Amino acid sequence: MTSGAAPRLFVVSAPSGTGKTTIVRRLVGGHPGISLAVSHTTRPARDNERHQRDYFFVTDKAFDAIRDGDGFLEHAEVFGNRYGTSRREVEDKLASGRGVILEIDWQGAAQIRRAMPEAETVFLLPPSRAELQRRLEGRNSDSPEVLARRLSEAREDVGKWRDFHYVLINDDLDETYRRMSLILQGGGDRYSTGGKRRRERVEQLIASGGWSTTLP
Ligand code: 5GP
Repeated sequence: MTSGAAPRLFVVSAPSGTGKTTIVRRLVGGHPGISLAVSHTTRPARDNERHQRDYFFVTDKAFDAIRDGDGFLEHAEVFGNRYGTSRREVEDKLASGRGVILEIDWQGAAQIRRAMPEAETVFLLPPSRAELQRRLEGRNSDSPEVLARRLSEAREDVGKWRDFHYVLINDDLDETYRRMSLILQGGGDRYSTGGKRRRERVEQLIASGGWSTTLP
């Protein structure tokens, strides 16, 4: 989007370990008109997570029931667990005039682009492969198998940035917050993936960050 009314539905995706949750929580805290849609997941809660605040932690059976009742706007399997966005939560929030942020993976983002083409999609990239590994290891809450899987999938996910409206490299939290705020206010054109120069620059940054093996 280049001008006109402020966009209302935002999708933020990023490889695991990019710092997306931190950014999104800060954005929601700093923008009272925008709220986060809390997803459903079949993954077990981590120690620091709370039901209803971080996720609705549900059984496979409960997840199936919501899906079969067309209750998800989008849903996907990520790292062997299932995740879904409640249709009602998003529609109710939008109807009440609030902006909504979805923090979902690239598969979910693709579904949202089809179902709600007015959505604005943002992809966050970690500054480098080494940094992403460091962050994932520092999280210290996943088993070694899950960690290895997250790392290898993150490598593949990096290349998905081209399908999004905007791309940001999260090398500085404050700066990324500022840029995301601009995007939320409809003034983030310089971070659009539509420009040739921006695309070339991102390709370069990705290559220099140790991600070159992921480029097509
Ligand atoms: P985590 O298990 O680390 O909380 O999340 C793993 C991945 O699932 C992240 O990329 C996160 O953005 C994604 N995710 C979280 N909620 C949803 C959702 O409702 N739908 C989809 N498609 N992905 C989600």
